Amino acid sequence: MSTTVTITGTGCPIPDANRAGPGVLVRYNELSMQFDAGRSTVQRLAGADLWVPSLTAVFLTHYHSDHCSGLADVALTYWIMDRTDAAPPLTIVAPEGETSRYVESLLANWEDDVAVRAAHAGRSSRPGLDVRPFAVPDHPTEVWRRSDAQGEVVVSAGQVRHEPVVGAVGYRVDTPDGSLAITGDTLVCDEVAELATGVDVLVYEAMRFDYFDTLPERRRYITEYHADTRLIGRQAAELEVPTLVLTHLIPAPESDTDRQAFVNDIRAGGYVGDVIVADDLYSVTLGQQQSGDWSR
Ligand SMILES: [Zn+2]
Ligand SMILES: [Zn+2]
Repeated sequence: MSTTVTITGTGCPIPDANRAGPGVLVRYNELSMQFDAGRSTVQRLAGADLWVPSLTAVFLTHYHSDHCSGLADVALTYWIMDRTDAAPPLTIVAPEGETSRYVESLLANWEDDVAVRAAHAGRSSRPGLDVRPFAVPDHPTEVWRRSDAQGEVVVSAGQVRHEPVVGAVGYRVDTPDGSLAITGDTLVCDEVAELATGVDVLVYEAMRFDYFDTLPERRRYITEYHADTRLIGRQAAELEVPTLVLTHLIPAPESDTDRQAFVNDIRAGGYVGDVIVADDLYSVTLGQQQSGDWSR
């Protein structure tokens, strides 16, 4: 029995050959929960040895394209690879409003493709979605739960600060092995602190604001709704979280020097725990967090 957290994508909207769009896979026994599904998510799920039809549920943080442009691929692959022709609809949990609306029309553009595949293969099933919208809560609130003989997994959602995007959330996952939080896209804010209090692993989107200070004014708007690495360091120190995993990396590090710059910012914020500047498919097992600065 163990809970494994795998970063399926550490990228952002800027294409990077080595970084898929944002996503985190959490596995506990037979449960496989995917948080966000940016570009190339199915590729990374294959890299993580995850059989797509075995996905239990997908959770979305918000409707920005970098977080959901791979979702149709996940949903179609879930059906195409289903050898039983009887898999249940893919459960997708999403904040209600723009994000749930996006999910509800997800497969509308694929009807001709699905029809020809189904007819050709003699299949009676069609891709199905079990969309579960939830009202964005003021404080972290349970949005999904699953029990098995070995314990219970609870997923809670909490609002984060990603304005002008409204309805953006982060998630917290509690399993018998421990807990983790995934910030989604957000400023460093009290809402994240509330969501992440007491977790063993905190997966944080990370942007080096110092880098943007060197760019033209017209490109600095992006700092208005992302998480500054120095402030992440300060908050992680206050939370005393044991392991901090940085993802959604901006600018994308290309060398050890670039990675170290992220770590230095976190340390400047006062954090002394383990920092991982993640590459795609970095994995950590709850209760077995690794020591080290910027190991993958
Ligand atoms: Zn994003
Ligand atoms: Zn975003």
